[in-house]
Amino acid sequence: MSAVRGDVTYTVRFWGTRGSIPTPGAHTAKYGGNTACVAVSGGMDQLVILDAGSGIRPLGQELSRLTPGAMALDILLTHTHWDHIQGLPFFQPLNSRGNTVRIYGSAQAGVPLEDILDRQMDPVVFPVPLKALTADLRITEVSGGRFEIDGFLVEAVRLRHPGTTLGYKLVPVKGGRTMAYLTDNELGSGGNYDVGPHWRRDLVRFLGGVDTLIHDGMYSEAMIEARAGWGHSTPEQAIDLAREADCRHLVLFHHEPEHDDTTIEALLAGARRYAAVRVPGLTVDAAMEGMTLTL
Ligand SMILES: [Zn+2]
Ligand SMILES: [Zn+2]
Repeated sequence: MSAVRGDVTYTVRFWGTRGSIPTPGAHTAKYGGNTACVAVSGGMDQLVILDAGSGIRPLGQELSRLTPGAMALDILLTHTHWDHIQGLPFFQPLNSRGNTVRIYGSAQAGVPLEDILDRQMDPVVFPVPLKALTADLRITEVSGGRFEIDGFLVEAVRLRHPGTTLGYKLVPVKGGRTMAYLTDNELGSGGNYDVGPHWRRDLVRFLGGVDTLIHDGMYSEAMIEARAGWGHSTPEQAIDLAREADCRHLVLFHHEPEHDDTTIEALLAGARRYAAVRVPGLTVDAAMEGMTLTL
């Protein structure tokens, strides 16, 4: 689908693309070593941050550099595994008086989201407690459904991953292309997750009309059987989902930490060959740190 006049264009920038743990070094320089963080921006005053892995640290530095006054920022967390929250203690805007940072995400196993973020900064593991940060921090628990933030209509969906993990769909309130961010999601049959019997059908419906799908493509086909139940997918599984949901662009995300750039290139080449046969209209890319898409 193409944008029509009056639609809002926005950018999607990848600040962290890696799963599990940061992997700095020359061998990951192309696809990136920082863990999950994606910035969706419709302009200076419209910014939605997806996840707070280590990639949120350089994003925070850039925001502090570019924004002269106080900032009001919104962060959507998919879940609270380390690789999705470990950058928060180093997110500069959280430590600047006058800023407001709103964090949305789910409680886990009965533990409120605020407590989980607090525990990450407990004195036994971190020198500065969450409450010492000077920004006005507002935490909102979401478990699904629709809400509006920063000029975007957001819809959350439950994913197949240990704990309560959410995927997010975003579209500008004033109209424009739709994107979805589904990381940490097991599309195969492994694992036992608290999702309904029609999860797959419902997910395809949820994704109907999505232009750009960012999806977990962590494991190769050779690895997936041994990792069943770990909550992740292969590029080929993500391609099948993109085909069913009629997406235009698939961006493979949450790269396996053991995969260097050469391995990811090979996975991407294999994924593109698979897509060329199965769904010729689909563009397939692998997320690269620093890559910006315009929708
Ligand atoms: Zn993860
Ligand atoms: Zn996870």
